[in-house]
Amino acid sequence: MSEDILKRQIKKEPLSLILTHYIPLKKNKDEVKANCPFCKGEMSINDTKGMYWCFPCQSGGDAINFVMKLKNLKYSDALIDISKKINLEHYKTEDKSCERTIGQVMTIEQLTSAFKTQALLLENIQKEIAELKAIVSSSKQTPEKKLKAHQIILATAEYYKTDVTLIKSKSREEIPAHARHVAMYILYEYENFTYKEIASIFNRDHSTVVSYCEKIKSAHKTYQNIRTDVETILSKIGFAII
Ligand SMILES: [Zn+2]
Repeated sequence: MSEDILKRQIKKEPLSLILTHYIPLKKNKDEVKANCPFCKGEMSINDTKGMYWCFPCQSGGDAINFVMKLKNLKYSDALIDISKKINLEHYKTEDKSCERTIGQVMTIEQLTSAFKTQALLLENIQKEIAELKAIVSSSKQTPEKKLKAHQIILATAEYYKTDVTLIKSKSREEIPAHARHVAMYILYEYENFTYKEIASIFNRDHSTVVSYCEKIKSAHKTYQNIRTDVETILSKIGFAII
């Protein structure tokens, strides 16, 4: 069987099926991962693209590249090694006349593989940029909103006789923690701040802010003293409740 045919047969096999002969794989729903044998970081295996990728050590490629790197083999030896593992008919070089052609095919193959690795790297960088953009846009706030948030936090701090730094900290002390939750609730309920904006002001995650706002909302319905607290704080900043 020629090297070219062998290579095409290997390409037809799912990457994970080949790699499972070399390293333990972790399958979770559609995702296949493994401990990278080169850096011990986490490696992703993409059967659709036939490519593996390890972000920590920036290595990636197809099954043939993987086996070449893992076992330090030449391209043709890696083909043979894989074909033995997955029971393809053993490759033999009988026809000397086709060696040059095989050499050219290998070069194209290696270039294609290098190109795919770069494409994968670019894709990963683009994902990172998108995530960073999302973080930057969530932290963008107008000066008016910043001022409004500051006024409310200040008024809440004065009302509960605590201070702004404690309210904005992660202190678990009862009074500053309660004041923090009330301030979040006022920002959300009366000043039209989004949970995302509040999360950014208090440096908390989105779900934490939602749960605190919900907690004060239900207390506000039930307890007169919470209603009085909220109304007094709002009146301090000139917010008239109709
Ligand atoms: Zn790695």
